[in-house]
Amino acid sequence: MKVLNLYGVNDLRLDEKDMPICKADEVLVKVKYCGICGSDIQRVYAKGTYHFPTVIGHEFSGVVKYDTENKLTGKKVAVFPLLPCFNCESCEKGNYASCSDYDYYGSRRDGGMAEYIAVKRWNLIVLNDSVPIEQGAMLEPVAVARHATMKLGNIQGMNILISGAGPIGLIAAQWSKLFGAKAIYFFDIDKQKIDFAKKMGFYEYNNDEIDAAIEGTGASDALSHCLKALKAGGKITLMGNPIREIALSQNDYWDILRKELQLFGTWNSSYNDTVNDWKEGVDAITRGDINLEPLITHKYKLEQYKEAFELMYKRKEFYNKVMFQIN
Ligand SMILES: [Zn+2]
Ligand SMILES: [Zn+2]
Repeated sequence: MKVLNLYGVNDLRLDEKDMPICKADEVLVKVKYCGICGSDIQRVYAKGTYHFPTVIGHEFSGVVKYDTENKLTGKKVAVFPLLPCFNCESCEKGNYASCSDYDYYGSRRDGGMAEYIAVKRWNLIVLNDSVPIEQGAMLEPVAVARHATMKLGNIQGMNILISGAGPIGLIAAQWSKLFGAKAIYFFDIDKQKIDFAKKMGFYEYNNDEIDAAIEGTGASDALSHCLKALKAGGKITLMGNPIREIALSQNDYWDILRKELQLFGTWNSSYNDTVNDWKEGVDAITRGDINLEPLITHKYKLEQYKEAFELMYKRKEFYNKVMFQIN
């Protein structure tokens, strides 16, 4: 089968690999779509993976080709990419994203930029017919965005500022609307991204009064901007992965103190019986409350991987969600 194998930083190759062999707790998934995450750009061009080579890709959906128990064969599925240890304190609470010893499809072990992958049954989310399979490949960002938005608590009637109008920001905006926010404003250094957000019914931030914010870029300037924009008593979720040191000026820090701002961290998503951002995501897509279709701007074949990665890395043209369509 064909896979995208990362052999080192700047060394991604279209490779041939043996078909995976399923263990008793796994099913064989024929991958249909796999999104390229911003974190994959970091992996390929800067940080690498935990060991080499690794098949990257953690945002994927497909069809179950083979199930030893024969229950899931033919079903459309998405995949929660985290494999918890089930032993640590966080796992005991069902807080798998904070597991101290986890594995991960597409970074610590082989992922979804492949024709096939063996996936543990526990990690499968079965999709109903109302969820287009390519949107199933976006359930990860949908879940991550929901998790981040939920951290803000009640946002009914509030003005929300989201920094970063990429896929997760635009999905967080849709969740915010669903949770009753009054208006959603965007801040982004890329004018085209702002225009895209406006087309989806959101606003460009222009010194409006902000009750709650989501920082989605991991850049100091953006965080500083959010802290300034927030009203006294405001709250902010820190979601963006920092690309370098995050530094705050004395005034930014005073903003936190004087306005008594509340800062929340968010990491990944909830995936347990009590809170399940993934299942909520499927339901919201099914109801039409979350609309992912306009976000998918580019589809590539695995063979076009150089083009696909360079588009995002070099920002060659406007894009939102870029994904591989794998036949
Ligand atoms: Zn991702
Ligand atoms: Zn654990």
